[in-house]
Amino acid sequence: MAASNFSTLCSSSHSKPSSFPFCNTQSFITTTNNNNTLFLSNTNSLQTLLSHSTHNPRYLLPLPCTKATNTFASFDDDDEKPREECGVVGIYGDPEASRLCSLALHALQHRGQEGAGIVAAHDNLLHSVNGVGLVSDVFDESKLSQLPGSSAIGHVRYSTAGHSKLCNVQPFVAGYRFGSVAVAHNGNFVNYRSLRAKLEDNGSIFNTTSDTEVVLHLIATSKHRPFLLRIVDACENLKGAYSLVFLTEDKLVAVRDPFGFRPLVMGRRSNGAVVFASETCALDLIEATYEREVNPGEVVVVDHTGIQSLCLVSHPEPKQCIFEHIYFALPNSVVFGKSVYESRRKFGEILATESPVECDVVIAVPDSGVVAALGYAAKAGVPFQQGLIRSHYVGRTFIEPSQKIRDFGVKLKLSPVRAVLEGKRVVVVDDSIVRGTTSSKIVRLIKEAGAKEVHVRIACPPIIGSCYYGVDTPSKEELISNRMSVEEMKEFIGCDSLAFLPLDRLKMLLEDDSPNYCYACFSGKYPVQPEEHETTSLHEFDWDDALNNGSLKPIEEEGWVRNQEGVSEDKIVSV
Ligand code: SF4
Repeated sequence: MAASNFSTLCSSSHSKPSSFPFCNTQSFITTTNNNNTLFLSNTNSLQTLLSHSTHNPRYLLPLPCTKATNTFASFDDDDEKPREECGVVGIYGDPEASRLCSLALHALQHRGQEGAGIVAAHDNLLHSVNGVGLVSDVFDESKLSQLPGSSAIGHVRYSTAGHSKLCNVQPFVAGYRFGSVAVAHNGNFVNYRSLRAKLEDNGSIFNTTSDTEVVLHLIATSKHRPFLLRIVDACENLKGAYSLVFLTEDKLVAVRDPFGFRPLVMGRRSNGAVVFASETCALDLIEATYEREVNPGEVVVVDHTGIQSLCLVSHPEPKQCIFEHIYFALPNSVVFGKSVYESRRKFGEILATESPVECDVVIAVPDSGVVAALGYAAKAGVPFQQGLIRSHYVGRTFIEPSQKIRDFGVKLKLSPVRAVLEGKRVVVVDDSIVRGTTSSKIVRLIKEAGAKEVHVRIACPPIIGSCYYGVDTPSKEELISNRMSVEEMKEFIGCDSLAFLPLDRLKMLLEDDSPNYCYACFSGKYPVQPEEHETTSLHEFDWDDALNNGSLKPIEEEGWVRNQEGVSEDKIVSV
C-alpha cells in the first residue's frame, strides 16, 4: 500500500509522524515507486528516505532559509480591507529565471506579504527556497545563486486558506511516481475540505493546512498519462478559483479556472522566454511584453517543443473578480484586458455624477483611493489635494491584530494635512468599506484637522457578503453594509454624507463585458456554490454546477484551443 509505505518511512525517522514538518527546512526528495504516492520530505528524514528508496531516487536540494520562522507573529491589519490573495509567476527559457522571478514577485508584493518562494528547475532537479516575510527578506544574492536553471515559478502569499505558517508558504514541491512537480496557486478551492477528506480516506498524508496541497495529491493519484493529462484530471476535481503555475523538471504549465476568477497573463521577453504572472505590472518590471491572458479554463504548457494549449470545460460566462479593478491590482496593471487605472478613474467620475456635493477640496485615502479621487475631482471640477499622508515606514510586525492596537495603527499610518483641510468642505474618496471602524477614525482625523464638513465617497458598491474565491473578507455578520443602511452607516462613521458606487452603474460601465464579472460580495449571488462554508441565505445563490461536469470537450468555436475528449498528447495543437 502506498500510504503505509510512506507512513513507515516517516515513522522510522520521526517520533511524531503526524506532525511531519517537511516544509520548515524547504527541502524535498522524490522517490520512484510503483504506486501513486506523493512524497514530501525534509532534510531530517533524508537519510531514512534514501535507505528505503528502491529505484533511482532523485533529490531536491535542501536550501533552508535562514530568516524563516515557524509562525507569523503579527502583521498590520489596520486597513480593514479585503486582503489580497496571492501572486504567482512562472518563467521558462531564460538563464536568469530565478532572478527574474524574484523581481516579478517584488512587483506582485502588494498581493501578499506573509511569505514568498521560488522553485527553479536545473539538471533534472527542482530547487526550492521560500520563507516568511517580504520578497526582499526571503531572497538575497546567496539564495538566488542557489536557484540555477532556465525555468522557475514563484509565489507571494497572503493566506486565504490554511494557517499563516512557513509550511504553507508556496510553491509546494513534491515527488510522485513519474518525477517532481512544484505548484503555486492564487485562489481558493471551495470543495477543499471534501477533497482532502476523500484523499485522506484513501491514504494521502497532508503536510500543510493549505488548500493548494490537494492539487499535488490529485496529480499523484491520477491514473492519466502523460503529466499534462494528470493536471487536467486534477483540475477537473477542483471547484472554485484557481490560477496555477506548475513546474516540472522540463515543463512549465499555467492553468486558469473555467470561471477565470483570478487573473493570469502571459508575456514574452525579447530572448523568447515565456512569462506568466498574476498582473502585467510583473511583466513590465522584467521587460516582458504582454501577449494575452490565459483564458478561463485554459491549460498552457511550455517546454522545449514550444507552447501548447488545451482546455478544461469552459464556462459560457467567465466570472472575473471585479475587486481586482476596485482594490487588489496595481493601477499600472492591465487586468482582464482593462486598465486598472482607467477603471478606478471612471469609478470616481461616476461617484461625482451620481452623488455630487458642494465641496472645496477632494482628497483620497491613500494609496488605493487616489485614482478614483482624481476621477471624482476632475468630474466635479474641484481641486484634488493630498489631505492625508500615508507613512510607508510603519513596521509590520509590532502591530498586534487586536482592535485596540488597530485603532492606534490608523493614526500611525495616516496623517492629516491641516493646511489642506482646515475650514474646508472635504470630499474623501476611499476604495471600499468593510467593517467601517477605520472609516470612522479617518473621518475623525480629518475633522480634528479642522475640516468643516467631511463627505465620504466609496468607489465600490456596499460589500454585503464574504468572498469564497481567494479573497479574505470578514464574515457576513461583520460587514457594516450587511448590518446597516447607508444612513445608519453615515451616523456610525460620523461623516456629513456617505455614498457608494451603485452596482448598476458599475455594470453599465463594463457594458457588454458586464456578465463576465463576479459581483458576489455585492449581490450575494455566488457563481460557484460555497458548499463548504456556512451561509444564511442559500436561496440567494445562483446555483451553477458547471465545474462538476468538467471534462475535456471540443470548443472549436472558441478559436484558442482544439481538444477532444480522451485527448492524447499528439492531439494537442500548438498555438
Ligand atoms: S466575491 Fe467579490 S472579491 Fe470574491 S471573486 Fe467575487 S467579486 Fe471578487
